[in-house]
Amino acid sequence: MKIRLFGSCSGTEPVPGRHHTAFAVERRGGLYWFDAGESCAHTAHLSGADLLSIRHIVISHTHMDHIGGLAHLLWTMRKLDGHAHRLDGQTVFLHLPDLRAWDAVSSLLALTEGGFSCRFVIRPGLIGDGPLFEDNGLAVSALHTRHLPHAEGEPWRSFGFSIEADGKKIVYTGDTKGYEDYAPLLDGCDVLLHETGHHHPAEVAKRLIDEGRAPGLLAFLHHGRDILNHPDEQKALLAAIPDLSWRILNDGDVIEMGE
Ligand SMILES: [Zn+2]
Repeated sequence: MKIRLFGSCSGTEPVPGRHHTAFAVERRGGLYWFDAGESCAHTAHLSGADLLSIRHIVISHTHMDHIGGLAHLLWTMRKLDGHAHRLDGQTVFLHLPDLRAWDAVSSLLALTEGGFSCRFVIRPGLIGDGPLFEDNGLAVSALHTRHLPHAEGEPWRSFGFSIEADGKKIVYTGDTKGYEDYAPLLDGCDVLLHETGHHHPAEVAKRLIDEGRAPGLLAFLHHGRDILNHPDEQKALLAAIPDLSWRILNDGDVIEMGE
């Protein structure tokens, strides 16, 4: 199992060398896709990822830095399958926190070449708290975050996730208000993918250590101004924290997690 990072940036204006958030977990010939920021299909395909092995696409919330590349990702899968004919009759599961996003994306796609008639089926579904899917021994669960406003009785519209397979556990914070959002997911966490668009990396690390919940690897993505403008300063702050395994992720990075 490995994590492949396609976009490491938060919702900034275009910056050199980084794109909005997207990554995939690659395991046993399947790709499990999380968030679809700008250009993710382009970046992933050119980095050698097999877009026709995508089984599930999970969108944490509908802000543009997480969903702006979704229509193009689906369009690219159809384009590649038009040559390869590998997805005949197969289902691609699309997990969304707001199905109005699918109405918009499917309407847009329907206006493209050939009305976007596909050999594969896209099945959208609404994300809620709890188990989201299990596929070939890989299990994903969702837990809402407080990133977006939430009214009593309304569905939550922003989520973090745990991803478990082969005795390993990845936690992705999504966009988060902080520790309390994702703490329930942290038991046995090997890799915590934590956003830095709304948080100072060293403060995140210190809180995790203070709580006794430091993961095997604290990997930062969805970068904001701290890391975009002052990367060396942020690395020095992290390096000064004892007994912390950390990494600041860049577009194209891969985290190997064994079998
Ligand atoms: Zn974001």
